[in-house]
Amino acid sequence: MEGLTEAPDADGIEKLVSRMKEANSIEDWSFILADYISWGNSKIAKHVGIFNLNSANDCPNKKTQENGESETGLCQVPWEMCYAGKAEKIYPNTLDYRRRQEFLWDCLDADTFGKALLKIIERKRNDVTAIRLSEAGDFRHNGDIYKADRVAEMLAEKGIDLYTYSASYKLSGWQEVEYMTVMESVTKADYGDANYTAFDKSDGKPEGFVWCPHDLQKQEGSDDPIKCGDCRLCIDGDVDVAIPLH
Ligand code: SF4
Repeated sequence: MEGLTEAPDADGIEKLVSRMKEANSIEDWSFILADYISWGNSKIAKHVGIFNLNSANDCPNKKTQENGESETGLCQVPWEMCYAGKAEKIYPNTLDYRRRQEFLWDCLDADTFGKALLKIIERKRNDVTAIRLSEAGDFRHNGDIYKADRVAEMLAEKGIDLYTYSASYKLSGWQEVEYMTVMESVTKADYGDANYTAFDKSDGKPEGFVWCPHDLQKQEGSDDPIKCGDCRLCIDGDVDVAIPLH
């Protein structure tokens, strides 16, 4: 354990810390980490794992629409419209769970994290195609970028992709990324593989962009829109993706 951080004040943290103290092998770490990876949700296919580096409430770019840019970047949406923030308000355990995820992320070096993740994937009966980082929150510093990219390198050796979205455009570490796919969720700098930006649909499709097929199909009334993982636009990072706003 690197011990980079103080344990946060979050429900369940004592139990997590005592499990971490007992961990002696990659297998032990994999069982701990497995409780902090989720598989799919209403927008993401089940063959994609999700892990958050931090919560929306602790996001380095929180409320930057309202208060101006942070040291790391600028969020595209005002705080009241942040889905991740809303979930932390509505569901009682979500914020604590994400704070425990951040603690685990900070305490594990990249190789231990990557090996534990690969062990989890090995144990799964179903296929795993990708890992999505940061459904909530954002990258706080270059250390997050370097660590995530090393994990991406380890996953790539097994044919599994690691992808993320980030509005932390001021971090210089993006220029060093080799393995992870990064969707730039702010158009302030050239720092990732492709853009992921919200546009008013009534203005027509922005040039050079592709509408997110999940959001488009959902807005058109589909009750089974394609999910991330089956759609690979953000995983491959080869095209700019537009999110349709009404
Ligand atoms: S473009 Fe595809 S991968 Fe990206 S958010 Fe939409 S459905 Fe998911």
